[in-house]
Amino acid sequence: MSQIETRLWINNEYAAPHNGETFPIYNAFDGSLVADVAVAGPEDVEAAVQGAEVGQKVWFDLSGVERATVMRRFANLLRDATKDLARLDGLTMGRPVHTNDEGTRSAATWEYYAGLAEHVHGTSSLLCPGYVNINLRQPFGVTCGIIPWNLPVGAFAFKAAPAVAAGNAIIIKTSEKAPLAIAHLSKLIAQAGFPPGVIQILHGAGKTGALLSEHMKIRKLSFTGSTNTGRAILRASADSNLKNVTLELGGKSPTIVFEDADLDQAIKDCAFSISFNSGQVCIASSRLYVHAGVYDSFVQGLVEAFKGVEHGNPQSESTTMGPQADKAQSSIVSNYIEVGLKEGKVVYGGKADGDDNVNAFKPTIITDLPDSSAVNTEEVFGPVLVIHKFTDEQEVEVLKRCNDSPYGLYSAVYTKNFDRAMRVAKALEAGSVGVNCNSPFTANDLPFGGWKASGIGRENGPNGLDPWLEYKSIYMRV
Ligand code: NAD
Repeated sequence: MSQIETRLWINNEYAAPHNGETFPIYNAFDGSLVADVAVAGPEDVEAAVQGAEVGQKVWFDLSGVERATVMRRFANLLRDATKDLARLDGLTMGRPVHTNDEGTRSAATWEYYAGLAEHVHGTSSLLCPGYVNINLRQPFGVTCGIIPWNLPVGAFAFKAAPAVAAGNAIIIKTSEKAPLAIAHLSKLIAQAGFPPGVIQILHGAGKTGALLSEHMKIRKLSFTGSTNTGRAILRASADSNLKNVTLELGGKSPTIVFEDADLDQAIKDCAFSISFNSGQVCIASSRLYVHAGVYDSFVQGLVEAFKGVEHGNPQSESTTMGPQADKAQSSIVSNYIEVGLKEGKVVYGGKADGDDNVNAFKPTIITDLPDSSAVNTEEVFGPVLVIHKFTDEQEVEVLKRCNDSPYGLYSAVYTKNFDRAMRVAKALEAGSVGVNCNSPFTANDLPFGGWKASGIGRENGPNGLDPWLEYKSIYMRV
């Protein structure tokens, strides 16, 4: 792969930041300096917005079929870049390269929305006598996506693909922890044939994000990240131009394992859910409620599954679990494990072996913990799993404990009893529920998003296009 790209992407060209400011990116595995990345300041944000205004008009003058053709070309380029993107994510946030097929997965998202780009239309009606009424669906114009670091290429696709399918221009603000994969794929935007300004890429931390969320000319903003930042963005929108905001936020996802569950499947899925991407996944199943009748076998099975985890350099093919993204994430995980040691019992886990593996933790199981403990109520965003025992047969108590959380992103239930599965799925307060499966990557056609403090609005599928379109009702007397 060529040299690591670190510049902004404005109007289909790489651009140095106006004020020359940069921030360092360190290797998640060994802490060494990888690159200094451009920070977008006020002048760069203005340049991106102005260019996006021009680009959006050119883009919206194309037909839906023409827009779809460009998007499909981008999907193909993205798919071809999968290995390069994985290598860069491995450097920045520590995901093992051979577990990273974000390029291929995201190409499917781009192709799905290319299909929808050909079908963006409203409705007409003759229901009002003397009138022909028309409902148009129109793009907002200049929009923005602010993304986190844990699945950068996927988050980029979830925002940019529906935004441009709807005819908008979009400014993407990458995360300060993992900007390199998106910086690398920026040039594919021009290669695919997007007109200048349709997709702009800015780097920087919260300050750059705040410039965007306060901007008067950005009419729509879709954010993925922590609940606290989501609150700040909603406030910035309220205090500026009341831009339309979609929020995809944090979670503390519960899983219930009943006595009649397929235990091997439940163990395999729960082990994957909390160790994949080192637990740095919004839908990671981090609170387990296991029936007393199978509790001991379940915990033992999980410990055995975790013993098979291979820690190491994310660039190595033998590594199955990488480090936490950086020092900050690693000290958060360490602090929560400390709480677990004080308030409960750490059955397995802690810091991974190896002096050069600075930010790595084993998947960690904590039991015998009160429901009120911070490890049980707060999002760790790391490989820390709390397991509770339950005994009630009527599901009432266990459901109450599952739902007693500010979050409502994801949940799962394991049972062979179909009636119970449906009853529990209906009662769980979450945007998605897995039945006898856990942390499935969302199918392209299902809406994804959170209840309660896990978010506002939906991404993915046909519902993922709606938030990028305005309605316009035209009343025509005839
Ligand atoms: P974060 O909130 O710290 O940062 C997310 C993005 O917001 C970054 O690009 C950051 O620079 C930017 N930002 C920070 N302060 C800002 C401000 N004041 N104004 C505007 N932008 C600002 O989150 P993170 O640590 O990058 O990601 C982890 C969080 O994301 C977890 O809580 C996780 O659950 C959540 N997440 C949710 C989903 C979902 O789909 N619901 C998916 C992935 C991650």
